[in-house]
Amino acid sequence: MPSMLDAVVVGAGPNGLTAAVELARRGFSVEVFEALDTVGGGARTEELTLPGFRHDPCSAVHPLGAGSPAFKAMPLGRYGLEWLHPELPMAHPWDDGTAAVLSRSVAETAASFGARDAGTYRRLVAPYVTKWDTLARDFMSLPYSALPRDPLTLARFGIDGLPPSTWLMRRFRDEKARALFAGLVAHVIAPLGGLATSAVGLVFALAAHTGGWPMPRGGSQSIADALAAYLRDLGGVVHTGFEVKRLDDLPPARAYVFDTSPTALARIAGLGQAYEKYRYGASVFKIDYALDGPVPWAAEEARRAGTVQIGPTSGEIGTALNLASGGTAPETPFLITAQPSLVDPSRAPEGKHVFWAYGHVPHAWDGDLTDAIERQIERFAPGFRDRVLARATAGPPELAARNANYIGGDIACGAASGLQLMLRPKVTLFPYATKHPAVFICSSATPPGPGVHGMSGHNAAKAVWRRLRAA
Ligand SMILES: Cc1cc2nc3c(=O)[nH]c(=O)nc-3n(C[C@H](O)[C@H](O)[C@H](O)COP(=O)(O)OP(=O)(O)OC[C@H]3O[C@@H](n4cnc5c(N)ncnc54)[C@H](O)[C@@H]3O)c2cc1C
Repeated sequence: MPSMLDAVVVGAGPNGLTAAVELARRGFSVEVFEALDTVGGGARTEELTLPGFRHDPCSAVHPLGAGSPAFKAMPLGRYGLEWLHPELPMAHPWDDGTAAVLSRSVAETAASFGARDAGTYRRLVAPYVTKWDTLARDFMSLPYSALPRDPLTLARFGIDGLPPSTWLMRRFRDEKARALFAGLVAHVIAPLGGLATSAVGLVFALAAHTGGWPMPRGGSQSIADALAAYLRDLGGVVHTGFEVKRLDDLPPARAYVFDTSPTALARIAGLGQAYEKYRYGASVFKIDYALDGPVPWAAEEARRAGTVQIGPTSGEIGTALNLASGGTAPETPFLITAQPSLVDPSRAPEGKHVFWAYGHVPHAWDGDLTDAIERQIERFAPGFRDRVLARATAGPPELAARNANYIGGDIACGAASGLQLMLRPKVTLFPYATKHPAVFICSSATPPGPGVHGMSGHNAAKAVWRRLRAA
């Protein structure tokens, strides 16, 4: 070990590992310290229920990962990362047994909304589809880490994206398009009326049309394992089973990069009240199922989709989100579900399936949402319960115990609402720096926020190497 490292990274989630890789690629010496015995943070895969059933306790579906400018610039395929695409990225079923779909094809998606909204949808996404690579890079580098390459398209996206999604949804005349779009916004647990929630829905829709919503072969652990293997090849070192409690626990380094919550960072690095205004938000109740066969969805589109959203109207979805954000567990939760073994048979014994589902619940809620979740699934897939071989449930307390970043079970490491959706962990042009000149933050508490995309780590690394080179 050199006497003084260039950088130490605390936390081996996708952002911490990406930050470490970005620094190591540029010739800096880097060591990563992770509290748990395995790398991955929210990108991990475990046999949670029965032998041979490989579940993703956290992230499962990766529209943002597959399209991530940071991941695309790394040779992760050489380290085992392979994206598997379901026939349909997403289906959104209705009580009458039909479904709208979010397909790779804009035309197929628009057609599934019905004639009255098809044109509106095409006009909404068309200006961005062909420019998505550049737009995604510009959007995910906000607020400052790179100058926009296409400022005009970014500005236009701002006009469409900054208003609340409830405004944008008024462009649609029927409930199918509205509910599907509301469901997209709900992926970041943002109440539908919040600032810039239109951008959230658009990002997920555009990601589907341009890169799909794939899952990594073997589960989301493969993303973290590929990043860690690449890092080691670049000379980086990863220590696991090492919970960092104080800066003094770490070897001397020119920079310390925290893939942690702002609260933990302030405590560990002695930053006092630096982030006292940072808010943590609602949580989820997560169930991982081992099934005897595929989910018996009434709508055939749902049987072909990697992700299935469950919430038949935008009103029902909005109510569920508002209740969870306001402190009450919804009796009719909005659900995001995923079916990894449809595309990846290695995830379950032959003929069997893993199935992933969560609904939103309040911060730190300690109840059991299993029954409400299964009533919702049965509503669209009669006979579902008969296929359940085993289930592993995790509410806010279990999620918080699983990962120190999920304070009160908040899987976004900070409420993704209000100004904090975009400007996190505080309102500043330099979100990755702290008042300590050698201490940086790179977790999803920084822009562009939650999701396995590594872009917070990428942007933070840029801030670090600029500082190191200037020193
Ligand atoms: C149930 C659930 C479902 C999700 N679904 C999706 C999905 O389908 N698609 C998607 O893109 N995203 C999804 N996410 C979100 C995604 O997992 C996170 O946004 C992402 O993992 C954030 O990455 P990160 O590197 O910032 O933090 P994390 O992945 O949380 O990693 C932080 C790491 O730091 C470690 N750490 C924390 N404190 C310390 C310390 N003091 N010392 C040492 N190590 C420490 C933790 O153990 C952890 O390994 C989901 C999350 C959950 C929980």
